[in-house]
Amino acid sequence: MSSFVFGNPTNKQVIILLGAPGAGKGTQAQVLKEITCYPHISTGDLFRENLKNNTPIGQKAKSYMDKGALVPDEIVFEMLFDRLNRQDCAKGYILDGFPRSKDQAKVLDEALKGKADIIVLDIEVPDQVIINRLVHRVTCEKCQTPYHTILMPPKVSGICDKCGGKLIQRKDDTEEVIKNRLEVYHTQTEPLIQYYKEQGKLVIIDGTLPKDKITENIVKSLRAG
Ligand code: AMP
Repeated sequence: MSSFVFGNPTNKQVIILLGAPGAGKGTQAQVLKEITCYPHISTGDLFRENLKNNTPIGQKAKSYMDKGALVPDEIVFEMLFDRLNRQDCAKGYILDGFPRSKDQAKVLDEALKGKADIIVLDIEVPDQVIINRLVHRVTCEKCQTPYHTILMPPKVSGICDKCGGKLIQRKDDTEEVIKNRLEVYHTQTEPLIQYYKEQGKLVIIDGTLPKDKITENIVKSLRAG
């Protein structure tokens, strides 16, 4: 069993990463995946996979993703619960990019009622820092590892250090779409901070610290949780 058990050790453990796009949820999720052995479930990555494979879900999601708008809930739930029902999620998982609204959070609460312990890590980063990060972000096409072309560049330009995959700029990482995604975050997702605070599940993490320090703070919170 993982040494990062929180809550009741016999329950399923669900770690939710909250935070604006570019706050570092994906980066921390990858580290957390290594140390907890739970799968990293990113709804954004699942959608991008569907887009790449031109599935019906990908076709339905495309126009929303291009604008930086939220994909309608029924499409999100169909894709997400299909993934969460797989065997590797039986003991727990790390959610990144879901829930993104109170309605989504309520559906998740209902699905997990009495079956799981939830901890919510809200990674906080000011908007201006986010914009700067995202316009310089490139992501591995294969393993989704993100890089910052100035602050955290790969060893070889355009190539992922971890898997040798090609680094690409996401279509929605342009200044105009980023602004829309931030607006959507503030209006639809940010109210979740209060929602989870009232449930006593929220931990605030300073996302402006160096990556390793953020991980250290997250691990401390999980141990204390
Ligand atoms: P992300 O990689 O988390 O920034 O997500 C990229 C895009 O996928 C978002 O801008 C949305 O269009 C869509 N998306 C991801 N997760 C969700 C969600 N939980 N609800 C609705 N749309 C989502």
